[in-house]
Amino acid sequence: MALEEYRRKRDFSKTPEPEPKVGAKKGSELFFCVQKHLASHLHYDFRLEHKGVLLSWAVPKGPSLDPKTKRLAMMTEDHPYDYGEFEGVIPEGYGAGIVMLWDKGIWTPEVNDVDAALKKGDLKFTLNGYKLKGSWVLVRTGGRFPGARGGGDRSWLLIKHRDEWSGDLDITEFAPKSVKSGGDFEDILGADAPAVWLTNRPAKGGDAGAMLAQIIERAARLKAGRDAEGGERSAKDTNEANAPKAARVAKTARGRATAAKRPAARQKRRR
Ligand code: MN
Repeated sequence: MALEEYRRKRDFSKTPEPEPKVGAKKGSELFFCVQKHLASHLHYDFRLEHKGVLLSWAVPKGPSLDPKTKRLAMMTEDHPYDYGEFEGVIPEGYGAGIVMLWDKGIWTPEVNDVDAALKKGDLKFTLNGYKLKGSWVLVRTGGRFPGARGGGDRSWLLIKHRDEWSGDLDITEFAPKSVKSGGDFEDILGADAPAVWLTNRPAKGGDAGAMLAQIIERAARLKAGRDAEGGERSAKDTNEANAPKAARVAKTARGRATAAKRPAARQKRRR
């Protein structure tokens, strides 16, 4: 499938996401990844390499290792192969937010004809990633979310098959961080944001800029919630939306994360 939709939704002079290049890969192993994406809603983008592109599904709750827990997976537009290793900040436009490479590895179809399986709406496969392993299936559901291109439904279910890799461990809770950097959203933001934003500043006062500021605050709150039980400063204490430069926004977010760590450290010393 072509990448027109991916291309159409993005301005490559303004986003650090890679421009599509088809056929960039070598070897016969098929790549898969899951990118945790803090955008307007937190979700997990599940991607399977097929014919030079990444077939993509947005999974709002993320994958479950429990075969009884079927996770909604909305099929989205194909992404370029090179996008699969991307981790960083999308400053504005479609998908604005923070992308974390949550898992990656090799996938193997358990069917002879992937295209036929996709058409049928029943794709069985094996994953060999850092977090997700063993046998899985993507099954298209009936009729609730008709596809934009006519023909077919966009809603699928991602289901773990029962095997030695299934269980009731909540993998998104147990292993929430990046397999690329080891960091969480806040770390990714702190590491990558200045470089990205020097050349890709969000439009001042624009919707995308305001939305990104909100996402930065959410990332900081997620971090604060994990690092300290109470005692962290409210996200409202500083108003990133009014910061004159995007770089200062990143600095503020980092400063808050450091501040959030302090109470926990103090408690330790007291004991
Ligand atoms: Mn996404």
